[in-house]
Amino acid sequence: MDGHYDAIVIGMGPGGEVAASRLVEHGRRVAVVERELIGGECGYWACIPSKTLLRPVEARAEAGAVAGLDTPRADWAAIRAYRDGMIRHLDDGRQVAGYRDQGVTVVKGAARVTGRDPWRVEADGRVMTADHVIVATGSAAVRPPVDGLDGVEVWTNREATTLTDIPGRTVVVGGNAVGLELGQFLARMGSAVTLLQRGPRLMSREDPRIGELAAEVLGRDGVDVRTGTEPRRMFRDGADSVVELAGGERIAADVVLLATGRTPRTDGLGLADVGVEAGPRGIAVDERCRAADGLWAVGDVTGVALFTHVAKYQARVVADNILGIDRTADYTAVPRVVFSDPEIAAVGSTAEQARAAGVDVVAAEVDLPSGLARPWTYAAEPFGRLGVLADRRRRVLIGAWAVSPLAGEWIHTAALAIREAIPIDRLTDGIPQFPTYSEGYILALEQLDL
Ligand SMILES: Cc1cc2nc3c(=O)[nH]c(=O)nc-3n(C[C@H](O)[C@H](O)[C@H](O)COP(=O)(O)OP(=O)(O)OC[C@H]3O[C@@H](n4cnc5c(N)ncnc54)[C@H](O)[C@@H]3O)c2cc1C
Repeated sequence: MDGHYDAIVIGMGPGGEVAASRLVEHGRRVAVVERELIGGECGYWACIPSKTLLRPVEARAEAGAVAGLDTPRADWAAIRAYRDGMIRHLDDGRQVAGYRDQGVTVVKGAARVTGRDPWRVEADGRVMTADHVIVATGSAAVRPPVDGLDGVEVWTNREATTLTDIPGRTVVVGGNAVGLELGQFLARMGSAVTLLQRGPRLMSREDPRIGELAAEVLGRDGVDVRTGTEPRRMFRDGADSVVELAGGERIAADVVLLATGRTPRTDGLGLADVGVEAGPRGIAVDERCRAADGLWAVGDVTGVALFTHVAKYQARVVADNILGIDRTADYTAVPRVVFSDPEIAAVGSTAEQARAAGVDVVAAEVDLPSGLARPWTYAAEPFGRLGVLADRRRRVLIGAWAVSPLAGEWIHTAALAIREAIPIDRLTDGIPQFPTYSEGYILALEQLDL
């Protein structure tokens, strides 16, 4: 036996890292197991590289949209080099050393839960026991069952975010956050991008207006957006990867980029053998993120909401419970941001969800340049939309969305208002800074027919 711990953390993405750090800060004995890199999908192949790559093409477009500035030149080699630094050249040596310096046992290898009472975890030939195990193993890209997929040049988020050359032609399969961000980045770097979305609109889980505006945004960058279609089969034709659509049309590309969703990583964990079920949506957890007595799960593997901020929140909830502070998770008003240009941000319910829940919904949408000064000081041909959704009976905000510069920042006003059920009358009595996008809330809320 290689030691007994207060907690063993399996998977060191953002969820695992926050849980481990919080427990260590409070003097607990912690072991962590990571089979790839400390920092997880987020740090190396998802949030960090995608946002790093999107920023230069955003800044370039912004410069081009400001009166009196020329569009700067994009230096792909320099952009790529900065991205490589941001993903630590896929080396977590400093992270491993950092945790070891804090007294954490770091095991590199795939973990398997092999017993309970006490919990037993095996990895890299070591056998450890613990009072608590936190599973934070994240999610992996889904490969849809398309005929011929294995025979063509396929990228998932991993190849796309670590790319070294910009493909001449890309077919992006999937029109939600990942497809939009990576599709816009590639188009802005000169790739001829066709984006396929099975459903009738982009951003299928959001308000329909977001889907329409997202298609407009991508269209302005030259992305050929095709909705209501999907690949029927794929095949090689010389150097080309050819995607045949459901209707028979063929699109030749250099790369097919899959943005078709995520699946929880529970393979090889051995959970069923210790009496813990993991379904296709992940490990079912209660409101404290507990899957069984002493076994906790956080992040994408729970299937609750596949965001880093949710993984970190759940980790804080779990760590506090382990530290003896009774705490339950409340997922009201989790922001959902696509870091496209302009940003797409949403929080709370959509009108459809609220109506299905029996709410008397009232909505308003405003064109920000029509009513605000800030968009005009920001760009010569400004663009920005804000939608708000309220519960007429309770007179509180229940949803908001925006397609606008910096929306990922100022959507948090709505997030706080929804989470704390701040009355609309209090919100319209607010004094937002002039000239900011945040003033849009007054415009939109005053449009509500309450
Ligand atoms: C392209 C892209 C962009 C994204 N951008 C954003 C964004 O901007 N903002 C945002 O909030 N979210 C974003 N996301 C989602 C975000 O990446 C995830 O929600 C987040 O990484 C989840 O964190 P996690 O800790 O649950 O898991 P992960 O980050 O997936 O980490 C899990 C870790 O567990 C390890 N592991 C798995 N199984 C085992 C095992 N058996 N033993 C040991 N270790 C194991 C893995 O190697 C991995 O390191 C993006 C996703 C993608 C694909």
